[in-house]
Amino acid sequence: MSGARTGRAGETLPVVNPATGELITTVPAVGADGVAVAAERALRIFETGIWSGRSPRERAAVLLRLAELMERDAEILARLDSEDAGKPITECRTGDVPGAIESIRWFAEAADKVFGRIAPTGGESLGLVSREPVGVAAAILPWNYPLAMAAWKVGPALAAGNSLLLKPAEATPRSTFHLAVLAAEAGLPDGVLTVLPGHGSVTGQALARDPLVRALSFTGSTATGRRILAATAETNFKRVSLEMGGKSPQVLLPDALDYGDELIENMIEAAFLTMGQNCTAGSRVLVHRDIADEVVDRFTRAAEALVIGDPAQPETRIGPLIDHTARNRVASAVESARSAGARIHTGGLPADLHPQGAYYPPTVVTAAPADSAAVTRELFGPVVTVQTFTTEHEAIRLANATEYGLAASVWTRDLDTALRMARGIEAGVVSVNAYSEGDITTPFGGWKQSGFGGAEKSTDAFQQWTREKTVWIRTR
Ligand code: NAP
Ligand code: MG
Repeated sequence: MSGARTGRAGETLPVVNPATGELITTVPAVGADGVAVAAERALRIFETGIWSGRSPRERAAVLLRLAELMERDAEILARLDSEDAGKPITECRTGDVPGAIESIRWFAEAADKVFGRIAPTGGESLGLVSREPVGVAAAILPWNYPLAMAAWKVGPALAAGNSLLLKPAEATPRSTFHLAVLAAEAGLPDGVLTVLPGHGSVTGQALARDPLVRALSFTGSTATGRRILAATAETNFKRVSLEMGGKSPQVLLPDALDYGDELIENMIEAAFLTMGQNCTAGSRVLVHRDIADEVVDRFTRAAEALVIGDPAQPETRIGPLIDHTARNRVASAVESARSAGARIHTGGLPADLHPQGAYYPPTVVTAAPADSAAVTRELFGPVVTVQTFTTEHEAIRLANATEYGLAASVWTRDLDTALRMARGIEAGVVSVNAYSEGDITTPFGGWKQSGFGGAEKSTDAFQQWTREKTVWIRTR
């Protein structure tokens, strides 16, 4: 494929079903020239005012129609993500797709609620501060929540009046295409939303370097985030927002087992949703020593009960990983923890359900060395390490012993303890007695190397997609 990475005209990308290895389709790979053409076209469309110049209320109406069409095609959208990413269909039906629809609808409704300000100047001047679209904006998406991440970006970017260039991950372009088709059906003018499939190192880099693109919102790995920030610094200093990886702790205080099965089911979801290929995955369980044995025992039994298999079947909770490279990475981290003295309570061996599918079972690891890859790296697979603590201070120290800071959960009945933990943990979202990142009304963004720039969700998201202007008027 090395020659293919130059982004030649006519080049295509395969879309493969990770559960079977079957080729689903091929899509065009847009090269750097194609990105430049698309950016110029997006700027022309922006300048016509056909979208940017409409009233926010009119833009809202189109986006609300889009949400309705997504509801009509919910099953199609769920299947596209399930087949492209290997995600269990039930997750797509109950999580990704409804979440994406809610996001488009919420930002549509917010479109005419972004107010400017009048500065508190003296009587001889008037300072008007307004929020304006950036013009041409771009978004680069990951493969783990293809439609949901597209919706978090499309909603506020289009509500604010921008023209948007959208690059889906190579593995998962089809729901993004379908979203664009529905947007056209909803009445979005041609050229306002452009999907640019292609290689990250070609199409993604071209977007990061394009001089006409004024804002770029990225969700993906920390390594790629670093490259994007370097590329924008070398070119036009476009506004950048990076949502990146995590190694999030689930902290269980001594009374956590008061929550019984609810605790265990939340821990399972935190650890194994989308096979642990989730930026907010609770991949590190930190448990008080007094309850560690019982927690490990119950958690292990619950992990073993998860149905592994064909993602298209509604009862499946665990499908394949995205590809064999991912499975090898996960397997080798678990093996090296094992040879360094860790105990594997369940899982640990690749599950060979389908010869082509990269299946790996839910895996629970204790006694892994604190500096092992299993404990320190984002594995992006269904692997949880368990570490014990005796004091709150130690729990906070362990929780923060990572360069990431995306999410955390804390389990205790004691409100004072919960608040002390929430204050002490360095993460963008700390949930108490739940595994949750909040809903669409709460901002989502990582601390430390998990995030940079603006947040997603909530009205805060508009800061990514707008810029502030002061109009200073001298009155006489
Ligand atoms: P990735 O490899 O970083 O890819 C993300 C996107 O960036 C893809 O569209 C990719 O294109 C593109 N890309 C790759 N190299 C690029 C480059 N040099 N310049 C510009 N774009 C480039 O991440 P991933 O494997 O798809 O997703 C998993 C990661 O995303 C995990 O680390 C996870 O934690 C993170 N994530 C974070 C959040 C959050 O909100 N914080 C949410 C979901 C996922 P290709 O597909 O062509 O490689
Ligand atoms: Mg990739």
